[in-house]
Amino acid sequence: MSQIAIGAGAAAVLVLAVGACDRTTPPATNGAAKPARTPEAASATTAACAQACVVMLGSGTPNADPEHSGPALAVIVKGKVYLVDAGPGVVRRAAAAHTAGVAALTMPALSRVFLTHLHSDHTTGLPDLMLTPWVLDRSDPLTVYGPPGTTALVDNLQKAYAADIDNRLHGLEPINRTGWRTQAIEIAPGVAYRDADVTITAFAVQHGNWAHAYGYTFQTAQQRIVVSGDTVPVEEIVRQCAGCDVLVHEVYSRAGFAKRTRDWQEYHAHSHTSTAQLAQIAMNAKPKLLVLYHQLYWGSTDADLLREITDAGYRGKVVSGRDLGVY
Ligand SMILES: [Zn+2]
Ligand SMILES: [Zn+2]
Repeated sequence: MSQIAIGAGAAAVLVLAVGACDRTTPPATNGAAKPARTPEAASATTAACAQACVVMLGSGTPNADPEHSGPALAVIVKGKVYLVDAGPGVVRRAAAAHTAGVAALTMPALSRVFLTHLHSDHTTGLPDLMLTPWVLDRSDPLTVYGPPGTTALVDNLQKAYAADIDNRLHGLEPINRTGWRTQAIEIAPGVAYRDADVTITAFAVQHGNWAHAYGYTFQTAQQRIVVSGDTVPVEEIVRQCAGCDVLVHEVYSRAGFAKRTRDWQEYHAHSHTSTAQLAQIAMNAKPKLLVLYHQLYWGSTDADLLREITDAGYRGKVVSGRDLGVY
């Protein structure tokens, strides 16, 4: 599976040196630049997604970094879209990917999402995903798969937006009568979804004091893609991947971690995965491509993250995921 960068513009990337599923501290800059989109990149993107691929819609964290939108990605299998998480910016990043050549990412196609856990950085794009594609001609209801608590989240969001839904349905707006609906399906570890082209399995990970946090495995006839969600290192990732095509895994910089205060180190050590820990996981899981996401830099750069992983002994193919990257 190839890696194609389809980022917008060549502006320097600003990387914030900040917290995890929590708060922020001052920024530091990373001089890396994104390649401009080209017609070749767009056609290559379409080719890469002909069978199955991952489109990084948001590689971010709670940090309000415009270069790393809220955590969200799209797995595309034979032209069908399966979203994982709904961080802030998810709908606009999907539109940007469509403009950049990922034909499958239309608004009506944004009709199912699999939540890894209910942290706000992974879910504050959910009301956007529930409502905006409907206004833009999605007639299918949105289906939200997720851990216990997903139904309450969806029900409360629908209550919060009841006036908007009522206004659009009963005013002059020529809008369909069905796409506003959202169905929540709470899942346990195991097969969460299956159709003719893909089986999606939720598996338990460990993330701070969350009782339920999941990763997801997408198995097609020819490919296996594994997404970690937010987690400390867990053996289940190794079992789920086992030579998979793409492992998308969260990570934090070991050097950056050393600069954090002791109380934050305690939090991160019980919530996330360091570069050295991820190197060990990847050496055992043996993915064809390891994609870093939900990167916590704390002053480090993408190059630093990659160096920390290779210094810890990993020799496989690894990239630091970028918004709108296709893998
Ligand atoms: Zn997170
Ligand atoms: Zn989290």
